[in-house]
Amino acid sequence: MVAPGALMLLTLACSGLPLHGGTLRAAGPSWVTSVALAAQLQAERGLAPRAEMGFVKYRPHPVAVVDLSPDGSVQAEVRTALAFFRMADAARRAGVNLVVVSGFRSHQKQAELYRLYRRGRGPLASRPGASNHQSGRALDLDMSLPGVKEWLRRHARRYGFRRTVPSERWHWEHVD
Ligand SMILES: [Zn+2]
Repeated sequence: MVAPGALMLLTLACSGLPLHGGTLRAAGPSWVTSVALAAQLQAERGLAPRAEMGFVKYRPHPVAVVDLSPDGSVQAEVRTALAFFRMADAARRAGVNLVVVSGFRSHQKQAELYRLYRRGRGPLASRPGASNHQSGRALDLDMSLPGVKEWLRRHARRYGFRRTVPSERWHWEHVD
C-alpha cells in the first residue's frame, strides 16, 4: 500500500532536517507507520504530508505532518490528522463544527510561545521540547462554538482523543 517513492521522499526529506543534539531514528516502526498513514491521507483526502522535526519529551522525533486547515495555518501528525478528520466529519453530521486553533508546533514556534509566556505576554506554554504540541498529537480546539463542548464530551474518546491538561479544556490529545 505504500508507494516506494513516497517512502523514499519522506525519508530523504527527513534526513535533511536539522537535529537539536539528538539521534535521528528515521527507520523505526513508527516512521514506517507514519509513511503508510501519509499514503492513506493522500489517497483519501488528497493531502500531501511532509516531514518535520518534532519533539517528544525533549528528544528529537521526526514526524510526518499534514495541513488540517485549507489555509495551511494548522498541522497535525498523520495518525492524529486521520482521527481528527473522521471525528470532524461525524461532528459535522450532527451539526457541530470542530475548529483547530493550534496543532503541531515546530521547536522555533514553541520557543517563541515560551518566551512570550515568560515575559508575561502570552498564555501558559511548556518549555521547548516538552510540549505535546511538538509531537503533533495535541490539538487546541475552539470550545466556544455551539455544541462543541457537549459533543466532544460524549464522542471524542471514540476517536481516540482525550483531555490531558485539566486546566486547559481546549487541549485534546490523540492517544493510541
Ligand atoms: Zn494545547
